[in-house]
This record gives sequence, C-alpha cells and structure tokens, in this order.
Amino acid sequence: MFSEIISKILHLKKQKNAIILAHNYMRPEIFEVADAVGDSFELSKSAQEMKGDIIVFAGVHFMAESAKLLNPSKKVLLPSLAAGCFMADTITAEGLLRLKKKYPNAPVVVYMNTSAEVKALSTATCTSSNALKIVESFAEDTIIFAPDKHLCEFVQDRTHKKLIPWAGFCHVHTQLSPAFLQKTKEKYPGAHVLLHPESPKRLFPFAEHICGTGGMSQYIQNHPEVDTFLIGTEEGMVGRLKRDFPEKTFVALMGTCINMKQITLDNIFRSLSQEKYEITIRDEIFVPAQKSLEEMMKRS
Ligand code: SF4
Repeated sequence: MFSEIISKILHLKKQKNAIILAHNYMRPEIFEVADAVGDSFELSKSAQEMKGDIIVFAGVHFMAESAKLLNPSKKVLLPSLAAGCFMADTITAEGLLRLKKKYPNAPVVVYMNTSAEVKALSTATCTSSNALKIVESFAEDTIIFAPDKHLCEFVQDRTHKKLIPWAGFCHVHTQLSPAFLQKTKEKYPGAHVLLHPESPKRLFPFAEHICGTGGMSQYIQNHPEVDTFLIGTEEGMVGRLKRDFPEKTFVALMGTCINMKQITLDNIFRSLSQEKYEITIRDEIFVPAQKSLEEMMKRS
C-alpha cells in the first residue's frame, strides 16, 4: 500500500544525505523510512551520532527544535507546521518569567515538551525518564518544575525537594478513567499495565510499572513470562511495540494525539524534496536553550 512512496523517500534520502527520525507515536508506516525510532531525547541523541546534512523530524515542533539545538550545523525539517503539542502550549515565556519572579532563587527544570523560548529561561531540561535525577542533582531545596503537573506530582512523591508546579498537562494522557482501566484489566487477566508518568496519579495503583516510552520497551524485554501488556500512553506506541515484540499482545488504553498524526509519508516526501519547513531559532534564545539541554545531558 505504501511501497511506492516509501521507495521514493528512501531514494531521496540517499540523494540528499538526509536522516529521518521518527517518534514512537508516529503512524507505523513511517517507521519503514526512519533511521531511528524512539522518544524525543533518544532521537536528539541519535541525531548527534548520525552523519547527514539534513534531519527530517517525524514528530512535533518542540522535538524538531531540540534536534536543531543539539545539531546546529544541520538543516532540521518538520514535515507539517500543524504538528504542535498541547502540553507545550500550556506554558509561555511570559508566564514562566512571572513564576520565576516569585521564586528568584529556585532553579527551573522544564520538560522536553516546551518551546525553545521556554527552555531558554530554564536551568535544565528533563525527560520523563530522567526528571527525578535532574531534580535531585540540584543543591537547592526548592525547584520550579514545568509544565506537566502530573509528571511534577510523580517526581514530588519520590523526592524531598519542594517542587513548584505549573498547571500544564497532556489531554491524551488524562482521558483514561480508573473505572475503564479496572474494566480493561479484568478483561485481560494476567496482563501488565504500563503507564506513562504524564498520567494522573489516581491511575497509578492499577499499574505494574510507571515509565516513559523507552522504559516500556525495557520492561517488556525484562518480563518474558508476560504475554499481554496494557499500554497507557498515546496509542501509536502500540504500533511500535508490535513491531519490536511481534509475539506479544498489546492493548492501547489511551487515544490518539492529533498533533503526532499530522505527519504522513506524503508530507515527509514533500518536506524532503522541497526542504521545508526548516526549523530556525532566534539567536538570543539559541544559546540559553541549548545550555538547558546540555545541562540535562551533564546531570543525567
Ligand atoms: S501526546 Fe500529549 S504531550 Fe505528546 S505531543 Fe501529543 S499533546 Fe504533546
């Protein structure tokens, strides 16, 4: 069904010395043209390790920005400008500045899901997998943690530091109800529930493990005795897991992120052939935002 467009993309990729990075939540056919598949942090690291003049980021805007910050000499393209992030949009530079004024001595840790402008005002960036480590790496006892209030709560329950939250959240990860999760668990006896820490805390008692998408793959690998997993993150992750563990059964507990689904094989082809949409970051925020990402690498 997709073979013609896939071979056109692969040909163009070679011709332009480009690499394609695909987030775990992408449509499964996109994995066929990807040089690396992973979460936003894994992909930014892959981009640094791979050779290529152009990076096509099959993900959302903040991820492509992070790839640009870590690979300043490469041209970074996002196939659709409609691929934003609801959570990243819950915080602005102005809002964060106001919070910083209230806690002038507190370091600021921001989640990867933020714009470069917001990262530029932070001390360090974090991912869901290293958030606790980054928070604990500071000598200060009070730390601003933004924008995801659920990830903040997850970290707060595991640290003695005082975290100052922001009220952001992801609508995909907050739709699941405890009653539906309980019912699904009953339908699949013996299945393990894996939940992303962007989920509300009220769901945690139902989960065998709470982790980011990279951690989910690791958990499945470490539990060969389990046949069925209920996956508590954006449903695209199930496609990724089915590809990596074809002998297992995966059930999606959450819905679709329409931002992630903006990326298609067609717009990847157009992006590569017309070299658009190129990610650019204003000079005055480039260095401080890059420093925030580098702090994360140092501290994690
Ligand atoms: S799933 Fe949620 S956090 Fe992830 S890109 Fe979509 S809106 Fe943003």
